[in-house]
Amino acid sequence: MGLVVQKYGGSSVADAEGIKRVAKRIVEAKKNGHQVVAVVSAMGDTTDELIDLAEQVSPMPAGRELDMLLTAGERISMALLAMAIKNLGHNAQSFTGSQAGVITDSVHNKARIIDVTPGRIQASVDEGNIAIVAGFQGVSQDTKDITTLGRGGSDTTAVALAAALDAEVCEIYTDVDGVFTADPRVVKKARKIDWISFEDMLELAASGSKVLLHRCVEYARRYNIPIHVRSSFSGLQGTWVSSEPIKQGDKQVEQAIISGVAHDTSEAKITVVGVPDKPGEAASIFRAIADAEINIDMVVQNVSAASTGLTDITFTLPKTDGRKAIDALERTKAAIGFDSLRYDDQIGKISLVGAGMKTNPGVTADFFTALSDAGVNIELISTSEIRISVVTRKDDVQEAVRAVHTAFGLDSDSDEAVVYGGTGR
Ligand code: ADP
Ligand code: ASP
Ligand code: MG
Repeated sequence: MGLVVQKYGGSSVADAEGIKRVAKRIVEAKKNGHQVVAVVSAMGDTTDELIDLAEQVSPMPAGRELDMLLTAGERISMALLAMAIKNLGHNAQSFTGSQAGVITDSVHNKARIIDVTPGRIQASVDEGNIAIVAGFQGVSQDTKDITTLGRGGSDTTAVALAAALDAEVCEIYTDVDGVFTADPRVVKKARKIDWISFEDMLELAASGSKVLLHRCVEYARRYNIPIHVRSSFSGLQGTWVSSEPIKQGDKQVEQAIISGVAHDTSEAKITVVGVPDKPGEAASIFRAIADAEINIDMVVQNVSAASTGLTDITFTLPKTDGRKAIDALERTKAAIGFDSLRYDDQIGKISLVGAGMKTNPGVTADFFTALSDAGVNIELISTSEIRISVVTRKDDVQEAVRAVHTAFGLDSDSDEAVVYGGTGR
């Protein structure tokens, strides 16, 4: 039997009991004959608490120091987990991201993995140990400083290690039984998905289904690493994310027409008001945003009013980058020549995802009808081949997700989706 990489999220290791429960699961896999590498997140809401603490001492903490602080969270859980495993009579060694060979670029707080050199991890498992790796962190190739991979980044650590170690599978253990047709915290009638393609999962993740991080799915697709998302609190089969459908008995699981509904309330929208309608204006605006290392999501440009020759450009971005974006645009105001900026962080995004959209006409019409029947006003729209997204008021999001889920026949008629832990923070 080969090597497996298992990743345990914060809610799975929230307290001493959780750590002991996870230790037992890892030892089970080892007893079944696998070599095991376990990637862990910080306990419970530790990362949020550390960020709160940093903001109390400085409103805009330096990226380098914030990374140094946040990586402490994963160090605590990795060491405790190794101790708990040793207590069960098995050898375990814990490693920081840097020791595990996770090499990144030097962008603090959202570094990208550029290489993984897992020599120490391979040696440790070859000696018969269980290797425990701190998720979400690495070391910059250039500056040699400690970096973090962005919120939820332990998922990416796990898949990157699975690829570098040529693992059979990457198991992502979390506080729900798999990937559902909507967030089970919002839609009680959400259904567990048995298999989902990398493509549909990428769109769900990019649209806010935080059960898997977008970058982690990208990585898994690139190296063709199957992911099994499942609960660390139950023994149930979870969701397989892979390129080819899995079999159940002798039957292939079918590709769903609509995979699910995702929502995201972590974005804000900025409107640049009164932009001269001439070539190069949009380029200057988005160059300023890019130079501030901010990723944008949707972009809409209004038709200019003939009388003024001015137009408005609206885009969405992570709320956490809001301040930085406004500052960057204000600095270039004179050069670009717009009138003013409007900032709105009371928005939410709802997305419908499914490969079947390409061949089933009417999906967009049905989506908009469901929203209108629920009395939800649409502010922005964007689409890809297999996704439709709209921006609405933040307060309408939950209602809208439930309405769309029902309208597309995704509601389950059996058990309610179980959420085993976590605070949803
Ligand atoms: P972990 O701490 O294990 O990394 P996360 O909180 O990052 O866990 O991700 C698990 C959470 O993702 C679930 O508790 C659930 O609320 C949320 N979630 C959002 N969309 C989905 C979905 N489509 N299917 C399952 N969970 C989802
Ligand atoms: N602890 C980090 C976070 O809360 C990374 C992770 O959990 O994946 O974002
Ligand atoms: Mg997560």
